[in-house]
Amino acid sequence: MASEKEAALAAASTPLDSPTIFDKIISKEIPANIVFEDEQVIAFRDINPQAPVHIVLIPKVKDGLSGLSKAEERHCEILGRLLYTAKLVAKQEGLDDGFRIVINDGPKGCQSVYHIHVHLLGGRQMNWPPG
Ligand code: C5P
Repeated sequence: MASEKEAALAAASTPLDSPTIFDKIISKEIPANIVFEDEQVIAFRDINPQAPVHIVLIPKVKDGLSGLSKAEERHCEILGRLLYTAKLVAKQEGLDDGFRIVINDGPKGCQSVYHIHVHLLGGRQMNWPPG
C-alpha cells in the first residue's frame, strides 16, 4: 500500500469534484465499520488506524466541501456538526481522558480523500508536535 504521503500526492491531481471512496461508504456500496450515523454525518473506523481508536467523520452531502480550504460561509453549520459529532463519538468510545481531532488539507497536509473529513484519534498518549 502506498504511504499516506504518496496517496496524498496522487489524490491531489484528481478533480476536486470527483466522486471519492467516501461516496461508496455513504451509499453502503462498500463496507465500513460504522460507529455513528444520522441524517447529516456518518462515522466509521479508519481502515488504517493510527491509534487504538481512529474514526473518520464525514458529511453525507459533500456540497463542494472537498477540504477545509474550500469552506464557505454556508458550510459553517456542517463544520460545527462534524466537530460536535466527534465529541459525541469520543464519549461513546470512552475517550474520557482526551482525544485528538485532525483535519488534513491538501497535499502538504497529507489529505488523500477529497471529501472533507475529521479524524478522531484516541486510546493512547498523543505527542506534540505531530509529524
Ligand atoms: O486525511 P486523509 O485524506 O489522509 O484521510 C483519509 C482516511 O480515510 C485515511 O486515514 C484512510 O485510511 C481512510 N480510509 C478508510 N476507508 C477507506 C478509504 C480510506 O478508512 N475505504
